[in-house]
Amino acid sequence: MSDHLNLFEMASSQFKKAADLINLNPMVRTILSEPQNEIIVNFPVTMDDGTHRLFKGYRIQHNNTHGPYKGGIRFHESVNLAEVKALASWMTWKSALMGIPFGGAKGGVTLNPRNFSPAELQRITRRFTYALGNNIGPEYDIPAPDVGTGAREMVWMMDTYMQMFNASERNQTRRVVTGKSLINGGSLGRDKATGQGLVFCFDVWSQHAGFEIKGSTFFVQGYGNVGSHAARIMQARGARLLAANDHTGSIGNADGIDAEDLAAYVAQKGGVKGYPRAKEIALTEFFHTKADVFIPAALECTVNASTDSLIQAKFVVEGANGPTTPEAEQTLAKRGITVIPDILANSGGVTVSYFEWVQNKNSEIWDLEKVDEELNRVMTRATLGVIQEMKARKCDPRTAAMALAVGRLEKIYMERGIFP
Ligand code: NAD
Repeated sequence: MSDHLNLFEMASSQFKKAADLINLNPMVRTILSEPQNEIIVNFPVTMDDGTHRLFKGYRIQHNNTHGPYKGGIRFHESVNLAEVKALASWMTWKSALMGIPFGGAKGGVTLNPRNFSPAELQRITRRFTYALGNNIGPEYDIPAPDVGTGAREMVWMMDTYMQMFNASERNQTRRVVTGKSLINGGSLGRDKATGQGLVFCFDVWSQHAGFEIKGSTFFVQGYGNVGSHAARIMQARGARLLAANDHTGSIGNADGIDAEDLAAYVAQKGGVKGYPRAKEIALTEFFHTKADVFIPAALECTVNASTDSLIQAKFVVEGANGPTTPEAEQTLAKRGITVIPDILANSGGVTVSYFEWVQNKNSEIWDLEKVDEELNRVMTRATLGVIQEMKARKCDPRTAAMALAVGRLEKIYMERGIFP
């Protein structure tokens, strides 16, 4: 489905386009073109049957001039260096764009979590955390969930990291990860944050474009954390879900699919396949769904040369990171389809991760209203900023978002210089 080998090249081409547009300082262009640190660990884990296996884990720290490195941990069989480098660079742009005092990082382990028992996954997560050691830290590099990981893995990471400190220091190390369960220091609203942020962003964008969410139709690729929350919140706004696709297959129903009911089904069955109140459809039919909005929320490069001409939506709102290839983006633009870019549309996750980190640091607990209100404020400010930049520079939404982010990092470097 995706061309992982070229993912960092794809990210680099997006960076180059924005850098050219703003005439980025050559020193800053050189620095930002590669990650600061690339950490690869091979670590052994005892399997349930007593045998041992070696796993490959990555932590790529792209940039920390805007604040501590920040970014998710992915458990997926196709995790590789180029992919993690691309994802780490997108985190740098995302934090800078949102004005969140974090930098950018990403990590992952090459494995299919469905092939391991919970006990094995716990040992893998803990061994990976231990292998990373002091390469992560609450003021240095703060992981979060991504594809194939969630609150469970974050709590295992937190607990493992805490064990490396004296009892008196442990409490202040809790914020080494975000996306934890509530009882273990997580934030209310973090679970739905990326989907919620996406809808807050689309609220502003659609108003600006004269489009009504209420009464509109949409379809979603990926029905995990991001996709299922985005779908439920879009439904709560009065939009109708017409089709969904995930690693198990595609389903559609022209009369609408209840997003809440589908989420309950997926939680039980592990995927959308077999959902009784829709019919199974082919992948091409899924991409050709006649709906106003498409939310890709699975893996990268799914909107590519073989799917772009099928899409009939007016808006592609990127829940996933890197779902649209540069070529597909051009094709969509020519066809009048607006792509609201990942570094803006899916930044609700890192934003509420920041709120969680602040709550842990100050021993505070915010209520859900406060989290949602603050998230809405940050998403609205950033979305209006991108729309304004797009008009001022007469460019596409992604280049406008990237130009704002890279421009902020340029200012930091120009004031600080490089040492020595
Ligand atoms: P998740 O593991 O909860 O869900 C992933 C979804 O993708 C699942 O529905 C899975 O079935 C689907 N999927 C996997 N392989 C697929 C394939 N080959 N074809 C179709 N669907 C496939 O992960 P998530 O956290 O929801 O992340 C989804 C995307 O959103 C990723 O690109 C991730 O980087 C991005 N993202 C996540 C967050 C977050 O807070 N979790 C924040 C920002 C961006």
